[in-house]
Amino acid sequence: MNSYISQLQKDGKLNKVLHKTQWQFTKKPFIISGPCSVESEDMIVNWALKLKELGVDALRGGAYKPCTYPITRTIGDNGWKEGLRETGLEFLKTARQESGLPIVSEIMDVQQINNLSMDAIDMIQVGTRNFQNYTLLDELGKLDKNVLLKRGTWGTIDEILGAVERLLVGGKARVAICLRGVVGAPSYRHVFPQIRWAPDIMMIPALKELCNIPIIYDPSHSTGYRNFVPAISRAAMAAGADGLALESHPDPDNSISDPDQAITIETLQEIMESIK
Ligand code: PEP
Ligand code: MN
Repeated sequence: MNSYISQLQKDGKLNKVLHKTQWQFTKKPFIISGPCSVESEDMIVNWALKLKELGVDALRGGAYKPCTYPITRTIGDNGWKEGLRETGLEFLKTARQESGLPIVSEIMDVQQINNLSMDAIDMIQVGTRNFQNYTLLDELGKLDKNVLLKRGTWGTIDEILGAVERLLVGGKARVAICLRGVVGAPSYRHVFPQIRWAPDIMMIPALKELCNIPIIYDPSHSTGYRNFVPAISRAAMAAGADGLALESHPDPDNSISDPDQAITIETLQEIMESIK
């Protein structure tokens, strides 16, 4: 094997020195929660207040939403077009102001970095689809921002570490890795059609051996199915994750995006109590 990692192993240099980063959010477990997608100002503000009351540490909400099929790009009549986009970011700003929660939200391209609403985001999410968008990673690395890098559904361990290094080379970004399930959905998918990905729990201890980067586990996208979210949350924490990113919604079945995996506030509370 001739990888960067194996070379470091051979040289005896691979002792948690490979990657150093100053993640700003050090509470453990660090809980990120919120809807897949920002749907309206009322919804995101009220939900933020509820999450804050529960003890959640950061609010997630997609403003720019990459949809798998273009046909799902426009939903409803409130201007949602692969997200509420700049308007969604404004709503997130209000939610932060009202709740005090830092905001986690995805951006999809370099152009969006320059968007005036960018100060709405405290932790920029790089989604699975952009995991190896090196132009984007190079630019994000230069920002004095927290970056939550989601693993591409195909990403090998070398590709994960390589993408993290891309960000760190920029010299400014503070990075955490988010594991969110990988290709190879389980053989029982015909019984549970919501399942799209296979949980990647073993990557947690694997990365922990190699680097000091915080690891946030996403049981929502990993399972795709809300009934499995509590068990996989506990499994990820038991495996050493530093925190969780959980999609939650006031009316899960009617979520604009990812309805099958959204959990209620009660389930979220149960999960948080069970991993204390
Ligand atoms: C998300 O977290 O909103 C999301 C789109 O996830 P992923 O990029 O992992 O599919
Ligand atoms: Mn989602």
